[in-house]
Amino acid sequence: MVVENTIYDLIIVGSGAAGLTAALESGNKSVLIITKTSSFSSGSSPLAQGGIAASVGSDDSASLHYNDTIKAGVYSGRSDQISFLTKMGVPAIENLLKINMAFDKTGSGQLDRNREGAHSRRRVLKAGGDSTGRILVKTLYEEALKRKNISWKHSVFVCDLIIENNSVQGITVYSDNDGFITIRSKRVLLATGGLGQLFGHTTNPVEATGDSMAIALRANLKLKEIEMVQFHPTALNVKSGDSLMLLTEALRGDGALLVRGDGTPFMGKYSPLKELAPRDVVSRAIWNEMKLGHEIFIDLKPIDDLGNKFPTVSSFCLRVGLNPNRELIPITPAVHYVMGGVDINRELPSGLGVAGEASYTGVHGANRLASNSLLECLVYGKSEVERVLSEDHELVDIDPKYPDLSRILDLVDIDLYRSKLQGIMYNNCGIIRNESSLLEGETQLIELKKMIINSPIYSGNNLTYRHVVKWLELNNMVSLGLSLIGSAIYRKESRGAHYREDYPNTSIRWDRIKIEGDSV
Ligand SMILES: Cc1cc2nc3c(=O)[nH]c(=O)nc-3n(C[C@H](O)[C@H](O)[C@H](O)COP(=O)(O)OP(=O)(O)OC[C@H]3O[C@@H](n4cnc5c(N)ncnc54)[C@H](O)[C@@H]3O)c2cc1C
Repeated sequence: MVVENTIYDLIIVGSGAAGLTAALESGNKSVLIITKTSSFSSGSSPLAQGGIAASVGSDDSASLHYNDTIKAGVYSGRSDQISFLTKMGVPAIENLLKINMAFDKTGSGQLDRNREGAHSRRRVLKAGGDSTGRILVKTLYEEALKRKNISWKHSVFVCDLIIENNSVQGITVYSDNDGFITIRSKRVLLATGGLGQLFGHTTNPVEATGDSMAIALRANLKLKEIEMVQFHPTALNVKSGDSLMLLTEALRGDGALLVRGDGTPFMGKYSPLKELAPRDVVSRAIWNEMKLGHEIFIDLKPIDDLGNKFPTVSSFCLRVGLNPNRELIPITPAVHYVMGGVDINRELPSGLGVAGEASYTGVHGANRLASNSLLECLVYGKSEVERVLSEDHELVDIDPKYPDLSRILDLVDIDLYRSKLQGIMYNNCGIIRNESSLLEGETQLIELKKMIINSPIYSGNNLTYRHVVKWLELNNMVSLGLSLIGSAIYRKESRGAHYREDYPNTSIRWDRIKIEGDSV
């Protein structure tokens, strides 16, 4: 066993918005930030376009934000956590302003506030137009670089938590430089983001493989509501790398139409709100049309001055050879966000925290309110780090186990099985689910697991970091996929992002909150 010499007060896994926020809130404690990627600008955070929701306006309040969040989550969020999130929104923005986050301002110097779907007030703060995530991560990262208490490691894949006597003892990692090693600390904060890569179509980056959730499963910790997977209705259906480009909802707000290949609009068949129906309704409509054999497109030609209003979208379309001013743009619904994760409402081992998309706080319920996830990263990045730093216990002797690489497959086969898994999840546990599709998906995943075990083992002697990481990710994705399907089978109702055609209504069993005057 190789053990790194330094013992840190805290290890933070992930350098997205949640991990970087946590690091900045760690006072003078010695902190190590780890990312499996070669750059610290990684994860979904830099890709965020819309913004950060917070009730900063004089016409707004935490309680209005609370009500909107609960309704969007179809009354199944946790009232205690939603109350905390929405109350901490304004202080979180003030903290960012203190480190010079360049939010967009109005002509009179006020914070410019956008209104997004299901928000009753203009409360979405943005930066650089549609570059909020990139500017947020840059601001947090540059501030963290100034702090002497923070150390950094990139190209280090965190494999597992080491837990003894219900207390954190460190982590096992696979590092590009040193192979498998153990890093000791009494405290670990998991902030590894979402699991979009489990599905064939996703807006999430290649590193979003749900590693913390798989780590939690192996550590016998509880995941909650990971069946709640939000699809974005309009991702550009042209693969460029491992994920799909998001085509913002604002395009439809500005007149873009959803059409079949012959240019016929179809949304009127599904909702009187047509293109402006809620995200889950539009996603299901597109999914239905695709099942009927239609290819689906977005027609951006009705938008005046598209290039100036939506420069990112226009230039990306042109880059992949599509002229949005002249032709229809192919789209598909794509997995965008997971509302569930490692349950932080249960007692966790001493010294363990979880923040950001990897966690289940309970703030999103069955549907995340737009722009609440970056806020969640900021609020819980802070509160989780404060909690774990207040916990203490002894470091004891350990005998860590590393993943077995003796059965590693050829990289080509790993990639093949990864894409098979993504197809199984997208087709059987996608936008519209039912008992038989879910059971079929479960059977196919179990078969896939057997195929992986029985495949020829890699016979070369040149294992690269990328090869090992892909293998470890595949193992994580298979176990997490099975867990996700199991949760989707268990929830016999339809609510928000989880739509079961065999149980099309909500069930009171899963209601958590009622707001006076609202009907559930
Ligand atoms: C295209 C897109 C647009 C979005 N727009 C918005 C928006 O406008 N507003 C909003 O609120 N939300 C938005 N979201 C959602 C939001 O961006 C994410 O939920 C949020 O950024 C997640 O942050 P995080 O810190 O939890 O994780 P991430 O930002 O995903 O970071 C995860 C980190 O963990 C590291 N990591 C993962 N596994 C390991 C491992 N095993 N070992 C070591 N390191 C590991 C990764 O390399 C990365 O550094 C958007 C998401 C996408 C994909």
